[in-house]
Amino acid sequence: MITIINGIVLSGTELEPIKANILIDDGKILEISQEVAEGEIIDATNCIVCPSFLNAHTHIGDSIIKDEGDGKSIEEIVKPPNGIKHLAISNFSDEDLILAMENSMWEMLKTGTTHFIDYREGGVKGVKLLKKASKNIPISPIILGRDNIFFDEDPNLSKVKIAIRKLLKNCDGIAPSGFGEITDEVAILIAEKCEKQGKFSSIHAGEYEKLQQDSIFEFGKTEVERAIECGFDQLIHVTAPIKEDLDLIAKNNKNLVICPGSNAMFSNGFPPFLNILERKINPLIGTDNIMINSPNIFRELEYTLKSMRALYKNFIDPQELIKMPTSNPLLFNYFYKNQIDKNGDIDDDFNSLIKNNLNINKSIIEENSYCELMIVKKISKNPYLSLINRTEKNDIFVIINKDKVCNFNKIKN
Ligand SMILES: [Zn+2]
Repeated sequence: MITIINGIVLSGTELEPIKANILIDDGKILEISQEVAEGEIIDATNCIVCPSFLNAHTHIGDSIIKDEGDGKSIEEIVKPPNGIKHLAISNFSDEDLILAMENSMWEMLKTGTTHFIDYREGGVKGVKLLKKASKNIPISPIILGRDNIFFDEDPNLSKVKIAIRKLLKNCDGIAPSGFGEITDEVAILIAEKCEKQGKFSSIHAGEYEKLQQDSIFEFGKTEVERAIECGFDQLIHVTAPIKEDLDLIAKNNKNLVICPGSNAMFSNGFPPFLNILERKINPLIGTDNIMINSPNIFRELEYTLKSMRALYKNFIDPQELIKMPTSNPLLFNYFYKNQIDKNGDIDDDFNSLIKNNLNINKSIIEENSYCELMIVKKISKNPYLSLINRTEKNDIFVIINKDKVCNFNKIKN
């Protein structure tokens, strides 16, 4: 048993700051109260106790070619299967790739991220490499695989089905890059098979305007419309929404991940954050390709807050930003769990919504939840701004991911 005492705890889905102690046993939070203090004591006086982060979109495989290709077009750098990234990765040994991925996972963990959703290239073999790399690191990867056969111009659908089946035996879901690279038949198959097996399907959509215009020109629909019609659970980017794109995402309760730092590095603009919030879409945040952007969520949040205030010339609430990597992944889940408790049973709509979100599996700080949190130095009275604007790596003292406790820096009360 461990008790974290005297910290300012960002509790529940609203991350409400309360002064309380947290009793942890066997990787779970047993009690949050003023009185409890049992077992090993961690003194968090003058610290913030914050849920650890979920980085909702990474490509960890390209850690090995950081900052290469800068200045070239996004297609030249990352478009599969012949972008600089894909050609470069295939030149390295498995050992080199594993080492680069391990380093990135330690970097994530030391900066508060215990969970990440990765678009893993290289088929089943690529998935297995990431599993091997993460084996001795107390971080929880959620791995979405893909197979090069998805990118054939005229793909053999029975071969595609076999590739999907093999992938789903080995990972948490499938993410086939974007609509520029695959046909709608392949996209529908992927989303269908994932749905059937209770797995997760995700796709890049509406990342920049040219992709959207090309999609409308060829298919009469935006990439977002196609992603939703094909049945994907999660959409990445939507930095350039057109027509009713955002309304469709809200109406269909889709999981949306914004990647502001990546959009900036590829000169693709800025996600329409205020329009997203207005529609009560609860976005997640991801750092995207490690080759172009650091996987440190603190850096991402600081960049996002400051550029949004600059761009909108308006107040942007830092609390809304901290929710993206902490409680937003759970909001649907939490809401629907309460609905079910009230009604006693689940209908099919609820079932599919729960499925989408249970697969993310990231806990907030509340009793009976898994213990996934960090203890960070409180530098100012505003806990949200203290985290976003002022936290450096040395200020992150302890990271707990269920029953694994990492002491990265000695707590300085
Ligand atoms: Zn991406």
